[in-house]
Order: sequence, then C-alpha cells, then structure tokens
Amino acid sequence: MKHMNGKKVVEIKNLVKNYGTNGFCTTVLKGIDLEICKGDFIAVMGPSGSGKTTLLNILSTIDKPTQGQVILDGIDLGKVKNRELSKIRRDKIGFIFQDYNLLDTMTLQDNIALPLSLNGAGGTECIRKSEALAGAFGLKGHLRKYPYQLSGGQKQRGAACRALITEPEIIFADEPTGALDSRSGRELLECLKAVNDGGKATILMVTHDAFSASYAKDVYILSDGQIRCRISRGDNRKAFYDKIVDMQASMGGDFS
Ligand code: ADP
Ligand code: MG
Repeated sequence: MKHMNGKKVVEIKNLVKNYGTNGFCTTVLKGIDLEICKGDFIAVMGPSGSGKTTLLNILSTIDKPTQGQVILDGIDLGKVKNRELSKIRRDKIGFIFQDYNLLDTMTLQDNIALPLSLNGAGGTECIRKSEALAGAFGLKGHLRKYPYQLSGGQKQRGAACRALITEPEIIFADEPTGALDSRSGRELLECLKAVNDGGKATILMVTHDAFSASYAKDVYILSDGQIRCRISRGDNRKAFYDKIVDMQASMGGDFS
C-alpha cells in the first residue's frame, strides 16, 4: 500500500551511526532502512535520546554516517564533495528546527524569502511567493513584523514558510512543536498537513510526541537504534492517535 506512484525522494540503506572512539563507542543508529516517496508525510517517533536528531542531521547532510547510504533525489550523499553538499542542501532540502532560527534583524517577510534571495531570485518573485505562503500559514498581516513582535507559533509557521519557499524535494522537521503550546502546535501541524495534502510538500518529521505524529500519513517507531514498526493513518486522526499511543505503550520506553 506504499504510495506507488510517488518517486523516491530519499532512500536510507543500512544507516549506522557511532559516537565516540574505540574505548567508549555508542551505536546510536543500528542499521536504519527507510524510503521516502514524493507526497509522503512521515513521522519518526522515538523516546528522547533514541537518535532522532542524529538521523535528521545525517539526512540533511549536517552530519555523516558511520556506515550505510543516504540517497537524496538519486544522489548518493556519501559520494559528494563538501562544496556540492552545500548546494544540495540549498536546492533540495528545507529544514524546520525546534527553536525557529529566524534572524532577529530581518522582518518576517525577509526571513521567509531569504533562501530564495540567496538563490538569486528577484524581488518580485520573493514578494509574491512569501505572500502566498504567508497566506497559507495564517501570517498575512504579520509580514512586516520582526521576530520579537511575533508569538512562538507565528515564528514557527514563518520558519515553515521559509523551509517551503524554494519548493525543496523534502522538508525535514526536528520536533517542530517542541517549543510551542498545544494550540500553536496544532495550528502548525494543520498547516503542514494542508500543504502535504495539497501535493506541495514531502515531509519527514521527528518527534517524541504522539499527538504531533498523528498528523503524518505514516508513523515509524525508532527504538534501540532501529525502526521497529510502521503505523498508517486511515481517515480518522483520532483513531490513528490511539493506535500510536497503544504502540508506544506496548514498546515501553520513556517518550516524554
Ligand atoms: P534524540 O533527538 O532522539 O533525543 P539524539 O540524536 O540527539 O536523540 O541523541 C542520541 C544519542 O546520541 C544520545 O544518547 C546522545 O547523548 C548521543 N549523542 C548525540 N550527539 C552526540 C555527539 N555529538 N557526540 C556524542 N554523543 C552524541
Ligand atoms: Mg532531538
């Protein structure tokens, strides 16, 4: 039942990550295999310390695996030189961090448009695209404001717009609701779900939170360094949420 018509955006093959040197070596990721296709919205769930950020950092080329392969849009990242990696990061990846990472000295609009203007886009395109995204994320009246004038939820929705503006192959989100109150978290997730449902984004989110995960189409549980199981959403998000919580409980571990 995997979405048959979507092209493969990311292939992860036997991914292993060790930290430390011979004496004190911990294996955080113990052979991860995962395929992400165009149009997917995947949540990888795991308890704190299970390696979610490590996984995302490797996928987004910030860190390197000890073993295994990451193939992004057909490109084996292990075979690419550093200079090309930064271009791949710019062109193909959008990132949403837990703590927004907006630049304080720029307006929300300039923050959103930044990746586009760094790619050499003209002012008109930057304005048009940032306004369209701001509309979709409920930020229309806020584009002239600076980050300190915005709530956490508004900042994070702005960060999502910034991640989307170059129309990347994939959006990686690391605990994107981690710093938000539950209502702002829900608003962000609803916006992300809407752009995914509209066919405008492929998303991999990592989270320890079952509620956040229930907005994805598929949830994978990461535990003891491996992907243990996959749960897929039907039509009913509440039933999906209950299934995720049951799965968590049956696996043990501290997801708080
Ligand atoms: P999560 O995001 O799921 O909470 P992380 O990927 O941040 O987990 O961390 C997984 C494990 O790897 C933790 O035990 C953490 O202490 C360890 N770890 C993370 N980064 C490093 C590092 N740079 N050096 C050594 N150990 C690390
Ligand atoms: Mg983390």
